[in-house]
Amino acid sequence: MSEAVLDFDEVMANFDPVLGLEVHVELNTASKMFCGCATTFGGEANSQTCPVCLGLPGALPVVNASAVESAIRIGLALNCSIAEHCRFARKNYFYPDQPKNYQISQYDEPIAFDGFAEVEVDGEVFRIEIERAHMEEDTGKSLHIGGATGRIHGASHSLLDYNRAGVPLIEIVTKPIVGAGEKAPQVARAYVAMLRDLLRALGVSDVRMEQGSLRCDANVSLMPKGTTSFGTRTETKNVNSLRSVERAIRYEMTRQAAVLTSGGTVDLQTRHWHEDTGITTAGRNKEEAEDYRYFPEPDLVPVAPSREWVDQLRTTLPEPPAERRKRLQSDWGFSDAEMRDVVSVGAVELIEQTVAEGCTAQAARKWWMGELVRRANEQQIELAEVGMSPAQVAQLQGLVDAKVVNDKLARQVIDGVLAGEGEPQQVVEARGLAVVSDDGALTAAVDEAIAANPDVADKIRGGKVQAAGALIGQVMKAMRGQADAARVREIILERLG
Ligand SMILES: [Zn+2]
Repeated sequence: MSEAVLDFDEVMANFDPVLGLEVHVELNTASKMFCGCATTFGGEANSQTCPVCLGLPGALPVVNASAVESAIRIGLALNCSIAEHCRFARKNYFYPDQPKNYQISQYDEPIAFDGFAEVEVDGEVFRIEIERAHMEEDTGKSLHIGGATGRIHGASHSLLDYNRAGVPLIEIVTKPIVGAGEKAPQVARAYVAMLRDLLRALGVSDVRMEQGSLRCDANVSLMPKGTTSFGTRTETKNVNSLRSVERAIRYEMTRQAAVLTSGGTVDLQTRHWHEDTGITTAGRNKEEAEDYRYFPEPDLVPVAPSREWVDQLRTTLPEPPAERRKRLQSDWGFSDAEMRDVVSVGAVELIEQTVAEGCTAQAARKWWMGELVRRANEQQIELAEVGMSPAQVAQLQGLVDAKVVNDKLARQVIDGVLAGEGEPQQVVEARGLAVVSDDGALTAAVDEAIAANPDVADKIRGGKVQAAGALIGQVMKAMRGQADAARVREIILERLG
């Protein structure tokens, strides 16, 4: 059921958006948060479980020190204060994929708090205040069998897999983001992208949004222009791609504006995002914190990281994303506008890796920001998911540099690589794409073109060198594009004195 929406420009004429972003990160520790079970993704269902993560009577949790270390490093990288002493809490609610009937989380004593991060959208810097980053455990997974969509509706039965139950999670919560205006959806996307890059650089998570190891809950509300008290928010759950973060927020702004404009009220509720139709639908009405009856977890000792440990961890932080970006821009010689485009499509790492494979920065940018981004847009996927690796892009450029293929043929090589035909070199061989570098064959084609266009040939003989373009075009056509145009030009000029 789709609801009425207001045109985005009309939303902006009448309302200011307020966002709150909650990002869950699955840590890549070898074992779970409170037991020794493995955390590997994709194992046989329920093969990575034990009495602790199954919530069996008498089982006692123990805190995973390396998860605490990751939590502190994340907090420090987000400019947070690190608690000298903090406790875990029980968040009580029933859910079939959570065997204990409560989730061990942190409530009023998060390990990291009061931080900030900066993101850039179209050259404008937005400061995002971080309220907290706290530790908790993931739930298991329900699999609904028998329905068409994999959802519970229409399913004949459900299966439970507890392999993910107890995997360490860090939840990073922003303070309300006010003042982003029409850029709010893009600011949210840029923030999640920044987090993804930062977490990857920290090495604490594999940050694969499509596998759910990084997921975003987006709180959105609107305030009528000129007012300052926040409207009622909705929380769109588990948005799992950067593009969806932006789209879901934009949609929710237009939907809420339509409700408010028609005199209705926004319900405090969770919403589900539907990637295919681009809309959100109502979930459950939202609980407030007191409904969860949080209380301190009695089975765990408090976490009290020493200041020496925190200081030592501070020395392990990677270069901050903004500084790193400036350094790369200067190394690569990109203009501000070029770098902005590279950042906005998420190509920084891809270009960096392509350069590491021996490609020049300009050539790496040409492929990623041209042919490959075009394909990503066509398929509405992230650039990194297009299916061409940085090493393959570097190899492709190597073939262009060696004059084995020209830029035009290189596009056909990309087609082949994306179609699974192998490495660029293999595609060139299998498809017979190499340019003809045999002067004999080129000369024959040139002579044919001259014979067919005597008037053009006369012009060139008479000194009108620019007329050679017409002949080059003929030869390229005859060679099905598989010739080096510069060499063809040389031969034409040689033949016509
Ligand atoms: Zn376990």
